[in-house]
Amino acid sequence: MISYWSSPLARVGVWEAGGMNVYISGLSQGLIDLGHKVDIYTKSPNCKEIKITNVVKNLRVIHIPIYGNLYAGVPTFTHKIEELIQKENISYDVFHSHYFYSGLIVENLKKDHIPWVHNSHSYGILKAKTIGIIDKKRIKYEKEIFQRADALIVSTYAEREVVLEEYPKASEKIYLISPGIDHNIFKPLDKYKSRQKLNLSRNKIYILFVGRIDPVKGIPSLITAVQKLLQSEPNLKSNLEVLLIGGDISSKKFWKQKEVKMIKDLIQKVNLSGNIRFLGSRSNTVLPYYYSACDIVVLPSVYESFGLVVLEAMACRACVVASKAGGPEYLIQDGKNGLLFDRENTAQLNRILKDLIHNPGKREKIGKNAVTRSFDFCWSTQAEKVVSLYGKMMKRTSY
Ligand code: UDP
Repeated sequence: MISYWSSPLARVGVWEAGGMNVYISGLSQGLIDLGHKVDIYTKSPNCKEIKITNVVKNLRVIHIPIYGNLYAGVPTFTHKIEELIQKENISYDVFHSHYFYSGLIVENLKKDHIPWVHNSHSYGILKAKTIGIIDKKRIKYEKEIFQRADALIVSTYAEREVVLEEYPKASEKIYLISPGIDHNIFKPLDKYKSRQKLNLSRNKIYILFVGRIDPVKGIPSLITAVQKLLQSEPNLKSNLEVLLIGGDISSKKFWKQKEVKMIKDLIQKVNLSGNIRFLGSRSNTVLPYYYSACDIVVLPSVYESFGLVVLEAMACRACVVASKAGGPEYLIQDGKNGLLFDRENTAQLNRILKDLIHNPGKREKIGKNAVTRSFDFCWSTQAEKVVSLYGKMMKRTSY
């Protein structure tokens, strides 16, 4: 696996480490459980020489020192992989790249007919359309990768459409294999015991957000919807709290980020400082308690390629409300196992929250159905699908 952008060993939920890191770790563990061996190559600005970490049996994370400009580091990174392959005489069966930088690396590797499977995880073109960040270089490279890779894994039908719009000829090589979760970790826990463990009040209404604090997550929509809710129901003001999980709140750099400043200013402006709390990042061993303890989990993204948080919360019997931003529409059947709203439609989100707050029975029913749906996505079965794709590619590229 090539994970140039960030290490699967990085702390998740802070800076750029999020769903892709969790995906790479989950898939790698799934592959190991099926008896395979995985090496993950990643860049590190913190080491002087290649550093190999044996994470568990059959899984190595190989840190390659790269400093400064990410594009400039691509040729060196590629060369270092080739050197290690030669030095250790490794014969990989598949190269699997994650995100476009890694795609550029595999594109330039001496592959000797070894198949190349690529996951984009997110798309420059969608970022341009949804939050107006136009990265022409990235969009061009992504299209090039769609052309050159042997197989492209997408997580949802919506993602498939994005790839096809950019490169219609890709239809033959797109494979829809969604990520999974580990149901041993993400499972329903007792609501009130979880609250006790987390020092949360027994009687308050808690709304939870989990994710990177990033413009794509649409956190301002949640704040505005809650402002509307409390305006129409002022008696809730002393009894409702929004918990924001994610971000390195202990670092000064975090509070200086444009998005964080904007969220903080908005909270102050709408007079919700007493109702919204930044908790910082939490590990996946603690998250199930939060998902189980809170009344509603909201993911208000403007763009979400999959939305692992939605799936994890569903597996913990949470009542999830998510925007129609890609992934959530694939996971949630509206009204049955979660609720969907048009992205950035704060009036609609307000109405949904209001209805759910007054309707615990509905929340419970949705939560129960969500657990059932979550079992469609287990890493054990999803990893088998990836292995079967690898096998197909190996047959096709060998002669
Ligand atoms: N996450 C975490 N701790 C945090 C915040 C997030 O472990 O404090 C994890 C979360 O459980 C999920 C991933 O980060 O597995 C986020 O993935 P998602 O697909 O929801 O969003 P992305 O980061 O890909 O935009």
